[in-house]
Amino acid sequence: MTNKETEIEKIERYNHHGTWMAVRSNLKGKHREHCLCFICNKFDIKDREKNCPIANILYRLCVLTEIVTPVWECKGFEYSDRPI
Ligand code: SF4
Repeated sequence: MTNKETEIEKIERYNHHGTWMAVRSNLKGKHREHCLCFICNKFDIKDREKNCPIANILYRLCVLTEIVTPVWECKGFEYSDRPI
């Protein structure tokens, strides 16, 4: 752990499918809570072919670079008519 991580005491590391990830402790496991896509009508986690192109590009970026990131803001958002 670096001095900066010790100072803010909010970063933890965990093994995610064989990769050591760093995450803010207060946000660990909360991706779905914060990502607009999970309450958007243009997103279907069970059928990615139906997802909007932005969500699919972001998904591919996350897989390729081994990051996890939510969508905070999006001009294309539409409230989902499906249960989450
Ligand atoms: S339109 Fe925006 S919020 Fe909706 S699925 Fe696509 S990227 Fe996510």
